[in-house]
Amino acid sequence: MSVLVIIPAAGAGTRFGGDIPKQFQPLAGKPIVQFVVERFLLSGLVDKIIVAVTDALLVTVKQAPGDRVQFVAGGETRQQSVIHAFREAGDAFDIVAVHDAVRPFFRLVTFATLIEAAREHGAALPALPLTDTIHATRDGRLAATVDRSNLVAAQTPQVFRYDVLRDALDRAVAEKFDGTDEAGVAARYGYDVRIVPGDRYNIKITRPEDLALAEAHFEEWSSE
Ligand code: C5P
Repeated sequence: MSVLVIIPAAGAGTRFGGDIPKQFQPLAGKPIVQFVVERFLLSGLVDKIIVAVTDALLVTVKQAPGDRVQFVAGGETRQQSVIHAFREAGDAFDIVAVHDAVRPFFRLVTFATLIEAAREHGAALPALPLTDTIHATRDGRLAATVDRSNLVAAQTPQVFRYDVLRDALDRAVAEKFDGTDEAGVAARYGYDVRIVPGDRYNIKITRPEDLALAEAHFEEWSSE
């Protein structure tokens, strides 16, 4: 079984502020995206990793044919970045995982479970039930309380059988649908997308304070 990992890392990270996009901020002394790539490489579960980066960065990275890690130009949206990477990868893979560049603390045991679930059912993602009460708002006022019992917060890595992701992305392109994650796109086209329990430490580093939390978690995690 051959496993490809796509890491969309071409976002501007505007919610983070500053000049350096969040995925290149240092965590434990190295850019977050490097931390993520190394975790996948060392997992023993992955054959190839494709990282989508901005055009500006693509000209500065060194690439050699045959490397297990390859860089491609991203697109305007996350989904377009994933599509660029997917097309560049070719079709020699059975399983494709898509992982946010800014989630350094995914668990390898969860990743292995997701691969198994995707093999069996076609697609799988890690997700957590919501604990906060969710309200809909209108013009800065609370309009209605949403029933949270059927809601989950999606995480990554999201894992797919190759044919499932290819078909879902092709159909999204055909109808000009741009989703915020690939699991949602696969479900939109009728695929069975299984939910695997996520992990509360698998945070998405989005704002500067998240980086401080991540550093603190790293200290705890690396001393385990
Ligand atoms: O902006 P958001 O937090 O949803 O981004 C999720 C992931 O998608 C990040 O890793 C970001 O770098 C990536 N992305 C991308 N290309 C874009 C926008 C976001 O690769 N055009």
